[in-house]
Amino acid sequence: MEAPFTCCKTKECPNVCCMQCLNIFHFSCLNRTQRMTKIEGHKIICSQECARQKESNDDQLNKLFEEVGKLKDDIKTKNGLLEELEVGVVNTRNFKDGINKLHKENRQKDVYIQRLKRVSISFEEDVFSAEQNYIKKLDEQKQTIAELNKELIKQTELNRHLMTEVDSKSAVEEWLQKDLHDLEISKQNMLKVIESLSQENELFTTELRELRNKNDIIKTKSERTSNTIGDEILGTER
Ligand SMILES: [Zn+2]
Ligand SMILES: [Zn+2]
Repeated sequence: MEAPFTCCKTKECPNVCCMQCLNIFHFSCLNRTQRMTKIEGHKIICSQECARQKESNDDQLNKLFEEVGKLKDDIKTKNGLLEELEVGVVNTRNFKDGINKLHKENRQKDVYIQRLKRVSISFEEDVFSAEQNYIKKLDEQKQTIAELNKELIKQTELNRHLMTEVDSKSAVEEWLQKDLHDLEISKQNMLKVIESLSQENELFTTELRELRNKNDIIKTKSERTSNTIGDEILGTER
């Protein structure tokens, strides 16, 4: 059991070294005790005591390796959890951003709805006041027409009376005829005024009807828009 030196490969080394107590022996001295265990080259275990200790150290070393392996696995698992946690944190942050954005959108929609409602109310008020004006004007026109009709009846009666007068009194015939002519013209004029006022009345009535229709349409639109936006908000909150 002799092997060469590591530095001078041609020379044989007569000594051996115990891998447990690290003591150096002559190979021949130790071989005589018959308690030596050979390992490889100059590496030996010198006694049974060293053999027991080596076995125990090996066991401990194996256990340590096992522990290190477990710790490595543990670190791997924890790293995985940490990665999942980081993803979770990022997701939570994105979720919060999304919720904030939705809140902001909802606020903008509320403002839009309020504005639509205000526009609708102010338009309704305008239509109502225009309607009141037209009704007042219509009443006034009706009254004027009634008065003119009364006047016309009076004039017609007067005409008839004058005609009788003309028939009976030929002396004043010329003078009366002139008067009659003037009265006739006045009557024609009055009829024209009544005609034009009646037309104007019809025009007012038509405009009033159109305004009411428009108002109804705008009301429906406003309600529909308000409902739709309300639904959207409910949808996003769900
Ligand atoms: Zn050497
Ligand atoms: Zn030893």
